[in-house]
Amino acid sequence: MFKKIGLFSLIVIVALVAVLAFNTLTNSPPETATSNFSSPEIDEMAAAKRLSQAVQLKTISVSKDGPIAADEFEKLHTLLNSFFPTVAAKLEKQIIGGHSLLYKWEGSDPSLPAAIFMGHMDVVPIEPGTEDRWEHPPFSGAIENGAVWGRGTLDDKLSVLALLEAAEFQLKAGLKPNRTLYFAFGHDEEVGGDNGAGNIAKLLESQGVKVAFTIDEGMVVVQGIMPGVEAPIAFIALAEKGYLTLELTATAKGGHSSIPPKETAVGKLSKAITALEANRMPAALRRPVTDMFDTLAPYMPTKLKAVISNRWLLEPVLVGQLGKGGATNAMVRTTTAATIINGGTKDNVLPTSAKATVNFRILPGNSIGDVVAHVNDTVNDPSVTVEIKQGNEPSRVSSHTSESYKQIAKTIGETLPDVIISPGLMLAGSDSKHYEKLAENNYRFIPMRFGPKDLSRVHGTNERIMIKNYAEIIKFYIRLLENTGT
Ligand SMILES: [Zn+2]
Repeated sequence: MFKKIGLFSLIVIVALVAVLAFNTLTNSPPETATSNFSSPEIDEMAAAKRLSQAVQLKTISVSKDGPIAADEFEKLHTLLNSFFPTVAAKLEKQIIGGHSLLYKWEGSDPSLPAAIFMGHMDVVPIEPGTEDRWEHPPFSGAIENGAVWGRGTLDDKLSVLALLEAAEFQLKAGLKPNRTLYFAFGHDEEVGGDNGAGNIAKLLESQGVKVAFTIDEGMVVVQGIMPGVEAPIAFIALAEKGYLTLELTATAKGGHSSIPPKETAVGKLSKAITALEANRMPAALRRPVTDMFDTLAPYMPTKLKAVISNRWLLEPVLVGQLGKGGATNAMVRTTTAATIINGGTKDNVLPTSAKATVNFRILPGNSIGDVVAHVNDTVNDPSVTVEIKQGNEPSRVSSHTSESYKQIAKTIGETLPDVIISPGLMLAGSDSKHYEKLAENNYRFIPMRFGPKDLSRVHGTNERIMIKNYAEIIKFYIRLLENTGT
């Protein structure tokens, strides 16, 4: 009997090892397609100077209800008209929501669904006290050391300008798109995008416009971030995480601190936050992160490749590992971040309440309702209330087998031949969420090249784009208009 079980187990183990090895060894990168693409000639320095001038305008979004930099947006609109005269002459332009721009390039075949190329003109403010840390002042648009410096060179004036550079180029070259192409530039993305992108999407919906895809800011080309993969990776985000801000309020009896209860409002609140940090939402591997790992596995070192190629068996191991990291944890989990805490006014007075703000980024597959239920269960204290301050659900996950995804990937392959192309999940938010009902698919990608230190430039200090990279981005859009438009 024992012998039989032993033999049986041995056969199973041998078979298992064979399957694992087979899956690992046969997981190899796809072959690259041949292309007739020849890189267009553009005047890189002239384009850099145009971006520089746009960066000098302080189109800052402060808060949802805050003042709008109306004059600066007006100046930017005028600048764009003068920079791109063919666009101004030939495309139909509308101003939406006060300051957002929608350009329409009519296609020859009205039966084809349209494409929307997106960007936003507003920027975030400079954090007070960090002005001195900029190598070149944040609104100087300085052209130094092969780069354009300033707020908006990465997020996201560069894509507004680069898309218009591409449209101007292709209009002059006589491109005749079959499908209608829209260029949609919001003015309030950094504060939610309701007035800009929200109203543009509503307008197009009311007109019954059919849209195959949108392409917006989101993910980029990164190098030196994925363990064991040396080549730069272009991540096309198929989805973005949701956003939820909760306010926790602990209440207690007030009074003099000389006769305190066992637990004050501050103590209750602290306990609640500690509980939330210790009991995070469960980790899970879901699309589009699974799409990403499936795509990247062939390029990874053998150990990692073996685990990913055999997810059917080793998924719990993989999820456990990913859940430990910082950025990788954010890919497999709804994250929890306590960001503000307030309570008490005087050292000898018991506070009647204390408040904390906790920000969650919701993984596709979880919902606002799931998070609120998890928080209530975890805190489990009737004297601590939970209130939703702000929230939007995670986006749906777009297709990575659609014709439009293939065209975007093809364009990356042609214009940035050194990169690996992969689906991805955007951890922050974008205007794309407003276009979910309107378009079949929403993609989020700009071919900006990022090293490990460049991420902190976005919304941070020393934001800048290398001029060589900016030229690549313009060429990517020039080719994308051709590949997706005709
Ligand atoms: Zn942005």
